[in-house]
Amino acid sequence: MGQKILVVEDNELNLKLFCDLLRAHGYEAEPVRDGREAVDRARAFRPDLVIMDIQMPHISGLELIEQLKADAELRVIPIMAVTAYAARGDEERIRDAGAEGYVSKPISVMKFVGAVADLLAARPAARPAEAPDRVVPPQAPAVPPQDSPTERQDDLPLGHPGEGRDPDDSGA
Ligand code: MN
Repeated sequence: MGQKILVVEDNELNLKLFCDLLRAHGYEAEPVRDGREAVDRARAFRPDLVIMDIQMPHISGLELIEQLKADAELRVIPIMAVTAYAARGDEERIRDAGAEGYVSKPISVMKFVGAVADLLAARPAARPAEAPDRVVPPQAPAVPPQDSPTERQDDLPLGHPGEGRDPDDSGA
């Protein structure tokens, strides 16, 4: 059974694209169309990763990230934010809210799948509940800090906002 990913996205086409991509890579994808259901669905589905659209009706992805990170049980689940409007400062706000990863729309398939794999790899595979005296910190970095940053320059998993993209994305 593949690792479980909760996909919170109000846009039906993006939701299908993300879920199809994840399933094609062996993950179990669970779609959530209404952000107001996201926290309850995360509690029920117990995903290994949450993919979070930022621009949604009723409740913003930023607010949902803060809610998930304020929950003692759910905060360990890594969150990858996906946003269409990558204005200056957006990535910082998303990371300040607690998201561990960030990709901008329109997504690059390679970056999207790479970011998913990196975030899942940063997590311990076993649930700490089975060894309560040996809890691994969930925030352990995927790459040891002594690694030279230039070694990974070609395949950075996380997109950078504002690189001349047309912000008028239909997937918002
Ligand atoms: Mn949206």
